[in-house]
Amino acid sequence: MLKLYNTLTHKKEVFKPLHNKKVGLYTCGPTVYSYAHIGNLKTYIFEDVLKRTLLLNGFQVKHVMNITDVGHLTSNADTGEDKIEKEAKKEKKSAWKIADFYTKAFFKDIQKLNILKPDIIAKATDNINEDIQLIQELERKGFTYRTSDGIYFDTSKLKDYGKLTGMNFQKLSQTLKAGSRIEFSPEKKNITDFSLWKFSPKNIKRQMEWSSPWGIGFPGWHIECAVINLKFLGKAFKGKRFLPKKATTIDIHCGGIDHIPIHHTNEIAQVEAVTGKRFVNYWLHGEFLKLPKKRMGKSENNAILLSDLEKTEYSPLAFRYLVLNSHYHTPLEFSLKALKASQESLNNLYSFVYDCLWFSKKQKTRKDQTFEIAKYQKEFKEAINEDLNTPQALAVIWKLIKMYYDSASINPQAVYKLALEFDKIFGLGLDKIKLILLSPTIKKLLSQREQARQNKQWEPADQIRQKIEKAGFKVEDTILGPKVVKKNWF
Ligand code: AMP
Ligand code: ZN
Repeated sequence: MLKLYNTLTHKKEVFKPLHNKKVGLYTCGPTVYSYAHIGNLKTYIFEDVLKRTLLLNGFQVKHVMNITDVGHLTSNADTGEDKIEKEAKKEKKSAWKIADFYTKAFFKDIQKLNILKPDIIAKATDNINEDIQLIQELERKGFTYRTSDGIYFDTSKLKDYGKLTGMNFQKLSQTLKAGSRIEFSPEKKNITDFSLWKFSPKNIKRQMEWSSPWGIGFPGWHIECAVINLKFLGKAFKGKRFLPKKATTIDIHCGGIDHIPIHHTNEIAQVEAVTGKRFVNYWLHGEFLKLPKKRMGKSENNAILLSDLEKTEYSPLAFRYLVLNSHYHTPLEFSLKALKASQESLNNLYSFVYDCLWFSKKQKTRKDQTFEIAKYQKEFKEAINEDLNTPQALAVIWKLIKMYYDSASINPQAVYKLALEFDKIFGLGLDKIKLILLSPTIKKLLSQREQARQNKQWEPADQIRQKIEKAGFKVEDTILGPKVVKKNWF
């Protein structure tokens, strides 16, 4: 039984998909005007664990992610510049090139973090016609109005607007007013109203713009995600035709917590206004990665990138370990000290997996005692199925390791297989650990060292060990002779 915390109902609920074993999963993708920072990446790791957990539970997952390559403005109040156009000016490149470059960079980053690629990746700029159709339908139903700079959604027309936040219309409006640092356009009827279609500014030539029934312009950020959901998961488009009555509810939608009051609230508003049906059954949100006392963000100018971490001695997967070691629902404070500790734990995990492999090869000499595999599997599954409790699941693998080292007669192959099974959720690359094929030079050094040790010539033996270490290996003396391991696994 998989339980997930649903932002919409404020409860942990048993997950039941709409269509038997098939699950539709939507994760909001990056706005591709710069590199993703490690805060963004924390959210993608949490979503990856969710997807892997669904797969572990035997569900078939259709995972859709959008790429926001137009329409995300520098301010959430529908003012300011388009982030991508702004970056294009700064870098003196075309907006298309900027979007393409940072999209590729994003997928390189998520690959380094062992995040599974979505089944469908949909660019906002490939779905403009669909955006226009959804806006037309909203217009037909009387949810829109026109201002001098665009077409807006009138949030007062929807009776349960803002339900994802747990606040009513008045309370949400007050909260947004209180939290806002900028002036809202006086033409907006309500502070919560948002743009569906923005007109290209009269005095500035935009690179990304399209004609529409309302004038030349570009779609708002929230309509893009609504449309991509409706198209690829909600089955509301037949070819190019929009059939809102046919739309189906979507199983799961996620993102970071910052998306709750505006982006996701507005996605719900647009979709439910035209379909009259519940848009999404389970909303999941990941808490923020923070720096001491501060949030991390591109706009706060304190963004740390994966490439910054790669310049240190720590690997991207050490960052993944750090994220797994805290629950997705609690904020995580980032520090190099914590990353260092994660790298050490990861190295220990790799060494343990290697040990299992190495002893498996020499199994004749290690007894073949079995252990209660099912007990560990159950404990692990219970942890991960309890709203993705990754710290608890990690504790299970550490318990397995302790049991393995405490008992010299456990079957290493069985332990190895179980660790790899757990890693289907962790994605820490345990399956990449292979037996080391030693080069003739290292083999020769090893036998010289053994000879020296047998003759009790400790100093030469130590010098040879140092030579082996220089070549990137460590020698560990075991009851079955010397075991060579890598100093750094990756
Ligand atoms: P963006 O590219 O700004 O649309 O953000 C991509 C994802 O990262 C969204 O799901 C955001 O909610 C999430 N996000 C943004 N900042 C942070 C942070 N500091 N920690 C965790 N997630 C974040
Ligand atoms: Zn989105």
